[in-house]
Amino acid sequence: MATVSIVKGTYSDLDIETLLAPLGGMGRFVKKNDNVLLKVNLLSTKGPEKAVTTHPDFVRAVAKVVRKAGGNPYIGDSPAGRFSKRYLKKAYTRSGLADLAKEKEIPLNFNTAIKKLDIPEGKRLQRSPICQYAVKADKIIALPKLKTHSFQYMTLACKIMYGVVPGLTKAKYHAQFPKKASFADMMLDILTIVKPQLYILDGILGMQGQGPGSGDPVKMDLVLGSTDPVAMDIAVCKILGIEPVGIPVLKRAKVRGLWPEKIDYPIQRPADVAYKGFRLPNTADHLLTGKRPPRKSPVISDKCTACGDCESICPKNAVKVQGRMAEVTYSRCIRCFCCHEVCPENAIMLRSVELN
Ligand code: SF4
Ligand code: SF4
Repeated sequence: MATVSIVKGTYSDLDIETLLAPLGGMGRFVKKNDNVLLKVNLLSTKGPEKAVTTHPDFVRAVAKVVRKAGGNPYIGDSPAGRFSKRYLKKAYTRSGLADLAKEKEIPLNFNTAIKKLDIPEGKRLQRSPICQYAVKADKIIALPKLKTHSFQYMTLACKIMYGVVPGLTKAKYHAQFPKKASFADMMLDILTIVKPQLYILDGILGMQGQGPGSGDPVKMDLVLGSTDPVAMDIAVCKILGIEPVGIPVLKRAKVRGLWPEKIDYPIQRPADVAYKGFRLPNTADHLLTGKRPPRKSPVISDKCTACGDCESICPKNAVKVQGRMAEVTYSRCIRCFCCHEVCPENAIMLRSVELN
């Protein structure tokens, strides 16, 4: 049986020990001198108020409990786009994690080395490059953010470890696995070789609407803890009133026999903290309406500054900067929405368009 602890909390009164008590406390997962990776969501270079990245106050609270258990925490992730020291520095700074690291002397990962690992239980991938910052950890505590995702509908615990795939390999996998189900399967493959001991979800300031990079922050005051990412994501869906198998990665988890037989909720049940009116991305309207949605495509707005980030990440060379603005060739586009995810100006909308 899986256990999911659910508490209400804010960044100023976060009680990680109470959350973890029903799971056996931090001492069950972290031993003296363990090097503990705090695997944050560091999608892009956005401030904590945008709800794109795991909040620094959340990371602070978890790191404190890790240290109390005798562990040595360090922070790491591979953002979307290039996995370079320069980009990491920018993302740590903007997300507030650089200040936290300085204040609490928590190391930030700048090692961009990768290692190729076999995936013996892989359904879609038999081998993949994986970031060394994750491979070298004695223990991993994943700190996902509660966010919507225009391609996979939600990004929660099952998706957080996609960040151990280095930078642009992530975009390559979008081209290799353009369907929602095959992409979800690939993410589950990664989870079979890089397995966090514990997941603690930051749903205090969540994101609704057009996530994961440019949705709307929403105060939810939710914190969840579990050793089982599927159980955690099912719990979030129940809180939000979403049918769990509507989320591609959860459907594939069900098909692959990863579904928990029963979930125990020792503190609060999802119904106790139900959140009404949560807005999914417009690509997922059908999860609430039951109607088939029109196909959405990226549309560049006049907010575009021609920075070229979308062009760099596009796995199909379908978006190019032409003069002062990016332009999409829809006949090439596979609607992975990586461009939408990384655009620093929130200049890319997802709309129904006529193909060019
Ligand atoms: S659409 Fe966004 S990411 Fe692409 S060039 Fe314009 S501002 Fe940059
Ligand atoms: S244009 Fe955007 S949505 Fe289309 S393939 Fe490129 S990154 Fe993906």
